Amino acid sequence: MNAWREQLKNHVNTLEKLEKFINVTPAEREAILAHKHTRWGTTPYFASLMDKDDPNCPIRKQVIPSMLEFQNELGMEGYLVWKENRSTEEKRPDSIARQYRDRVAFAVTQTCGIYCRHCFRREVTIDKVLKLRLDVDEGLNWIADHPEVRDVLITGGDPLLLNDDEIEYILRRLREIPHIEMIRFGSRLPVVLPQRIDASLMKKLSGYHKVPIWVNTQINHPREITELTARAVYDLTTCGINVGNQAVLLKGINDTVPVFRELHQKLLSIRVRPYYLFYCEAAPGIDHFRTPLEKGSELIRDALRGHTTGLAQPLYVIATNIGKISLLTNDAIVDKNETRYLLKNHDGRFTEMPVIPE
Ligand SMILES: *Cc1c(COP(=O)(O)O)cnc(C)c1O
Ligand code: SF4
Repeated sequence: MNAWREQLKNHVNTLEKLEKFINVTPAEREAILAHKHTRWGTTPYFASLMDKDDPNCPIRKQVIPSMLEFQNELGMEGYLVWKENRSTEEKRPDSIARQYRDRVAFAVTQTCGIYCRHCFRREVTIDKVLKLRLDVDEGLNWIADHPEVRDVLITGGDPLLLNDDEIEYILRRLREIPHIEMIRFGSRLPVVLPQRIDASLMKKLSGYHKVPIWVNTQINHPREITELTARAVYDLTTCGINVGNQAVLLKGINDTVPVFRELHQKLLSIRVRPYYLFYCEAAPGIDHFRTPLEKGSELIRDALRGHTTGLAQPLYVIATNIGKISLLTNDAIVDKNETRYLLKNHDGRFTEMPVIPE
């Protein structure tokens, strides 16, 4: 069995397996037992990066369930249906999420290498309260029938968990569609399962192609960056792939100036270009990860802009039902009262977000 399959086979997703890596605290134990009905866990590789004794370890907090997930006050019920415009008049396959005319998100699997506690798609990936029928051919046919779509973002779940032949098939089909100009993968595997970027996958991805591939990964804390991840990123770049990062702003994980600066400098040191910093979305069960909306621009101002290499600066955005809205300046925030922000997007439409108390 190859190394990445072995990692998946030994997924750390029970109390007993977790205890081989860390000293589990009573609070963690309680939360794990209370989350029996939902998915959690990660690879043995990623679990080995946890601090054995510190429950505030940024990796532990992303992997291990918390009782705080039950204290949902600000997250929206039915979040994904709203956010991904799943109840609009346009009929689309479940695999296609659409907010823009020229590009779509195409979900091809509901499986992940880590079930991030802060996941905004957790209704699908973790809690399984939203059932989607993901049919790859149905999605590909829909894309082929929509000539206005020029950019496809393959997502999930984690799309690099598909096997090599399935990935090759999707790439081939997309490259045969004349209006597709670029292909993107959103994947945490370079960080949680770097073994996945092996010689066999590289063979499928490499070669000069007119339709380029971009991979955006998600690294939230400098502790996640290791030699193996650096190597996986390098291997992707040797396949002609551009690698970017989409970090999520997470309270208690990366919301201080030193950690935030180290993260972004370290990304560049392994050839990853920071792309987005996402505000932690209003999905249910993740209130405890959310900072005030203004926090991200403060961090970019105090940790990055002028303080370090310009390439280290991500765009700070909030993902909404009307697309991503830039929060680098305050002009997107049209109004704010005690409970709600009123936000305006690039084409003048409005949406609302809950205010997070300090
Ligand atoms: C994020 C996203 C995209 C891509 O947005 P970019 O700003 O181009 O990276 C496209 N479609 C959906 C539904 C998205 O959520
Ligand atoms: S890997 Fe991505 S889709 Fe999967 S749980 Fe993490 S953030 Fe969500």
